[in-house]
Amino acid sequence: MDNFQTIEAIHTSGVYPKRNLTIVRGKGSHVWDENGQEYIDCISGHGVVNIGHCHPSVVSAVEKQAKQLITCPEVFHNDQRARLLDHLAALPPEGMQRAFLCNSGTEAVEAALKFARISTGRSELISTLRSFHGRTMGSLTLTGQKKHRMPFEPLLPHVTHIPFNKTEALHKSVSERTAAVILEVVQGEGGVRLADAEYLHTAQQLCHQNGALLIIDEVQTGLGRTGKMFAYEHYGIEPDILCIAKSLAGGLPMGATLLGTRVSELPSGVHGSTFGGNPLACAASVAVLKVLETEKLPERAAEMGEHILTQLRESNLPIVREVRGLGLMIGIELKQKVTPILRELQKRRLLALPAGKTILRLLPPLVISHKDCNQISAIVTKVLRESQSI
Ligand SMILES: *Cc1c(COP(=O)(O)O)cnc(C)c1O
Repeated sequence: MDNFQTIEAIHTSGVYPKRNLTIVRGKGSHVWDENGQEYIDCISGHGVVNIGHCHPSVVSAVEKQAKQLITCPEVFHNDQRARLLDHLAALPPEGMQRAFLCNSGTEAVEAALKFARISTGRSELISTLRSFHGRTMGSLTLTGQKKHRMPFEPLLPHVTHIPFNKTEALHKSVSERTAAVILEVVQGEGGVRLADAEYLHTAQQLCHQNGALLIIDEVQTGLGRTGKMFAYEHYGIEPDILCIAKSLAGGLPMGATLLGTRVSELPSGVHGSTFGGNPLACAASVAVLKVLETEKLPERAAEMGEHILTQLRESNLPIVREVRGLGLMIGIELKQKVTPILRELQKRRLLALPAGKTILRLLPPLVISHKDCNQISAIVTKVLRESQSI
């Protein structure tokens, strides 16, 4: 049994557009295929391995915990979960002292919208166009991209999508019927689009004035990716509910919904998850949070991101419309489709991902070396320069 691609092609659900590559090993910012060919990984499992593949601290925490206790429902207390909750509460501003633990980004968002409804007693939710909040029915309703929603309609009622970065639209739509406004600080899947400071501050102010909650979805931007622990810290706002996931447990499935003081007490029994807060993922996550701090990875992301952005901007390529980003979340908007470029990059041993049809997105692990950063800029520049002929 070694033609893995054929076997997967027959038995997989079919919902994923597959790439012609079988990855079998990873270390730091590199992955290897089954023939031992090495790649620089600017996908990071879709932003999952901020601390790099198979970080030794996570590997040893998982090994140790796997022998101790793997599962433990939340109706019981657990040492690893307590450690994680304590650590999480120390990350955002004072006041986000409670967290709901789950297993993915979409679940972190689902929990956020259920908690927003129960806390405010209201049902209306405001989201933005081009946003991405997940693929389960609630989160999908919030996702501001028709192509994802259309095949599954009808979805949740009382959800409005307004243009991103337009303060007038916020003024028009936030009211005393609004339960919550949900925003990404940098829209990821929607094309690496940065929020304006004025927009975020207006959203916060209108939520406060109208008794609504501000949900910030940092599933992709959180945990150092943008050069700070959370992207909202660049702007000086304070979310009422903060959703994180992707890199939270170093590659293991995990999500969390952090709750601020404007969220009411939640009645016991209103929500839950069988795997949520399991000791294995919690132990991995404690290791991740320690690594982010001891290796100063948010600072590193800021420095390396700036380095790559500068190099890409200086290369002045005719095919590029705009280079933008924050930390190591980088988007290169092209004047052509991105798919052939991704294929060409893969041939040159660099894995990158799209964000929409024309945007090339780079999400390397934050542990990436200076040498690899130069290599990334060089390969991307070369492929984009030669791309007229692709
Ligand atoms: C990836 C992502 C999600 C969904 O996370 P899953 O773990 O795939 O469910 C939600 N919000 C944002 C901003 C994301 O980038």
